Amino acid sequence: MVTITINKKQYEASEGKTILEVCREIGIEIPTLCHDDRLEPHAACRLCVVEIEGRRNLMTACSTKVEQSMVIETHSEKVIKSRRDILDLMITNHPLDCLTCKKSGDCGLQNYCYEYGIAEGSFSGTRKDYPIDDSNHFYISDQNKCILCGKCVRVCSELQETNAIGLSDRGFITKVAAPFDEGLINSKCVSCGNCVSVCPVGALEPKSKERFRLWETRKVRTTCSYCGVGCQMELLVKDQKVVGVEPAKGPSNNGLLCVKGKFAYSFVNHHDRLKTPLIKRNGKFEEATWEEAYKLITDKIIETKEEHGSDALAGLTSARCTNEENYLFQKLFRAAIGTNNIDHCARL
Ligand code: SF4
Ligand code: SF4
Ligand code: SF4
Repeated sequence: MVTITINKKQYEASEGKTILEVCREIGIEIPTLCHDDRLEPHAACRLCVVEIEGRRNLMTACSTKVEQSMVIETHSEKVIKSRRDILDLMITNHPLDCLTCKKSGDCGLQNYCYEYGIAEGSFSGTRKDYPIDDSNHFYISDQNKCILCGKCVRVCSELQETNAIGLSDRGFITKVAAPFDEGLINSKCVSCGNCVSVCPVGALEPKSKERFRLWETRKVRTTCSYCGVGCQMELLVKDQKVVGVEPAKGPSNNGLLCVKGKFAYSFVNHHDRLKTPLIKRNGKFEEATWEEAYKLITDKIIETKEEHGSDALAGLTSARCTNEENYLFQKLFRAAIGTNNIDHCARL
């Protein structure tokens, strides 16, 4: 442990931790647009700068480790001015179309501009003018909105390990692109959308047709039902309709999803989906209550078992259930009903 001073108060901190980590632990909010706990520190956006006694320059909190007797100021006049200058530079070269931008209300740049009182850029000069890459089936890339935080590139290489995109060119014309700038559709992108999930601004956006603001939605934590990995996710629900999916951190997915979990949710709202059980009466399916359905199933199971024995029964379960649900289903058949006639439709 080391003893440090932050904003004139003394703290004990674990050696090896960064200033950002320590500040978060003790509840001091430091802005950042490029940091993600799962990724190597990048120090690209420079918003997390802090003042350290004895250092000539402001230091980035995300990449500077605490040291014995360090004296740190996280919100000094010099720090605030630097953050304001950075935001000013960012929005000078940013389309201020917040009224129609899908990301409005969930945009890191918008939030920090509000917090630091930056309404418009005070610089003039050349502005970015890139065509939008909408070649991917699931998301668009609008590099005019990119703030070059590098999160998409790093999540694709460090976590997803696909390496489909990179920062191409240098200086003012740097942008995120697929190799040889031939469009996302011609890259090895697997459309997992993890880059979309981490983008702090509206540069990478799902192509979904749903129109919503984040504050109009409620988040429902659930498990992806597409395969046995059991990724954790949060459904964005507006007016009882799923309008989007965000990855959540779980033991098997570390905040990542694949293309199915991230983008293939429209079946949930599909009008063909059954919403109540159906019971066949006189050759025709009729809507029934769950109580009626369970009673019918139980009666039939008991009747069949008594007449023909347990092995006259079989259970077929679904790839749309979680591992845990499938586990319970086989338990029901093996332990309670007493047969090993249990199978699954996918066997992935
Ligand atoms: S969608 Fe996935 S694979 Fe494609 S660029 Fe983004 S992170 Fe990489
Ligand atoms: S596209 Fe988004 S995530 Fe990628 S570098 Fe630009 S702002 Fe960052
Ligand atoms: S997001 Fe993809 S990998 Fe994860 S559980 Fe769903 S289908 Fe499986």
